[in-house]
Amino acid sequence: MKAMVLNRVCSLVENKSPLEMADLPDPVPGDREVLVKVLTCGVCHTELDEIEGRTPPPRFPVVLGHEVVGRVEDRGKEVRVFEIGDRVGIGWIHSACKKCTHCLAGDENLCEHFKATGRDANGGYAEYLVVSEDFALKIPHVFSDLEAAPLLCAGAIGYRSLRLTGIKDGQYLGLTGFGASGHLVLKMARHRYPHSKVFVFARSERERDFARELGAAWAGDTDQESPERLDSIIDTTPVWKPIVEALKNLKAGGRLVINAIRKEEVDKQYLLRLDYPAHLWLEKEIKSVANVTRRDISEFLELAAQIPIMPEVEEFSLLEANRALMELKERKIRGAKVLRIDGSLV
Ligand SMILES: [Zn+2]
Ligand SMILES: [Zn+2]
Repeated sequence: MKAMVLNRVCSLVENKSPLEMADLPDPVPGDREVLVKVLTCGVCHTELDEIEGRTPPPRFPVVLGHEVVGRVEDRGKEVRVFEIGDRVGIGWIHSACKKCTHCLAGDENLCEHFKATGRDANGGYAEYLVVSEDFALKIPHVFSDLEAAPLLCAGAIGYRSLRLTGIKDGQYLGLTGFGASGHLVLKMARHRYPHSKVFVFARSERERDFARELGAAWAGDTDQESPERLDSIIDTTPVWKPIVEALKNLKAGGRLVINAIRKEEVDKQYLLRLDYPAHLWLEKEIKSVANVTRRDISEFLELAAQIPIMPEVEEFSLLEANRALMELKERKIRGAKVLRIDGSLV
């Protein structure tokens, strides 16, 4: 099969074509696995973290891509759920042990044996991949192959963040950072918690206007004080200042949820401004969001179909994967970038 593979960790400043087209043997499904013919695969920021070594793949070459939509083309002899021809989605979670205390409690994202699609196992920048049928998910019909792909990641992790806030309808929610994930969370929160006011902290006036348009009760700069104390705040920024500033806006017993796979070092000094009485006293909590479970992805897809959330998509061919990644790196973003893999490569 044709695949765009990553052969080594590298700097995207020096190498603007980190992926190379390769011919790999077609994968063969194990007894409980399905062989999936890839139709589309979303391009995510996490690929940049993998390429540049912030969350490096354990072995090379590796096929990246964890927002995969495809059709079951073949199945192992013990596969029960999926038939040949079924449309399936595969997100960041490729597998977990299913036996440890985390897995049994439904927190398979925390499993010591968690494997990520497109990092620990080959992903969707290719014509085919294999996955255990337990980790392939059904996709609501309302979404096209192109629309479904980006929903499998940012939206699902945004949904998990919202779940981890523990807020109830009527309580006050804050969002610090208002990019792709933030605006999806605002839409979800407005639908799920219609009586909750949402307060948005963002650096640019354009983002603050957009937040108000989508129904935010208030929008201000990252370091501003919100007009109300908030029950929970979700942080989706890559830096530290928003964390310190958000803590002062929490109510007693409030919770800050950090949705970031890694934080950058640039402004780490800002943490020295942390003032215990103002920022942490009175049982304020900080919680990070790690990975995603199957339940998060499935529940988010259902919710996205109801609201509905229809992502704007920009289409690329598999051969254009490097260009899509570089545009993401350079923040040339006009919608979620999705590769269409149509078999015309052979
Ligand atoms: Zn992703
Ligand atoms: Zn486990």
